[in-house]
Amino acid sequence: MKSITCEIVEKGGLKLHVLTGSPAGLVAKAVLIEGARESILIDCFMTVADADELVAHIKSTGKPLRAVYITHGHPDHYGGLPAVHAAFPGAELLARQPVLDALVEWPAKKVHWADIYGDQLPRDMVMPGLLTGTHTEIDGHTLRFLDQPPAETVHATAFDLPDLRTFIAGDLLFNRSHLYMADTNNPVAWKKAIAAAKADVSYDFIIPGHGDAGGKEIIANTIEWLDFYESVAQPGVRFQDFAPKIYARFPGYALPLILWVTRGPGFGLCGAAEAGVPPEVLGG
Ligand SMILES: [Zn+2]
Repeated sequence: MKSITCEIVEKGGLKLHVLTGSPAGLVAKAVLIEGARESILIDCFMTVADADELVAHIKSTGKPLRAVYITHGHPDHYGGLPAVHAAFPGAELLARQPVLDALVEWPAKKVHWADIYGDQLPRDMVMPGLLTGTHTEIDGHTLRFLDQPPAETVHATAFDLPDLRTFIAGDLLFNRSHLYMADTNNPVAWKKAIAAAKADVSYDFIIPGHGDAGGKEIIANTIEWLDFYESVAQPGVRFQDFAPKIYARFPGYALPLILWVTRGPGFGLCGAAEAGVPPEVLGG
């Protein structure tokens, strides 16, 4: 059964494949930038099943994959590296040094997520090489590498195609999804990073790390969630006491599992019941 989805947006002669991972893969985004003769991939999903579908999708374009860039060191964005590398051994796999440093933690991440994902996680990780410079080109369009201040994680790289006013934000931006706070837990820093990106990037098409692509409303949507989180996540207030408020304030948002299980006392699913995670969030 097919579980990843794809929306193709044509801009300036490029085809932007906006790919969405399965719910099991936390509906993470991957973006295939297809030019006339070759393609570039940004991020590559997490689970074995999603990565296999991603490989089949790239093959269906009939064009070679030149490079894969990884936005940040969270597995929902890089777990597909072994499958992509096996299918496209000629593609350069690249990430900034702090992202590479995070990928070294793969064996620990695999243990963390094993009770949820089991054999849907790759056994061994393929380490990318070092992404250097400020940009690359594809069919005459500049693709910039934008180092981000701490936001959803400490180190991340976003990308943009300035002449196409397209911003590939990675997990700097989420659209109608609960945000992942377990890494930095700093809504103030995150909002500052968004403000910096707004000053640096010209865009009217945004591809967030999770949730539908769209326009500038995605920025407002992310900030609204962060503002509410900041208002309820007060010092001394237990996570299990404010998580239900966030869940009620943003009904229908994707990634409730991220909201609950990755903050507070939960580690994977351990502690989920004690933290009061609603059964529907756990699929029960
Ligand atoms: Zn993510």
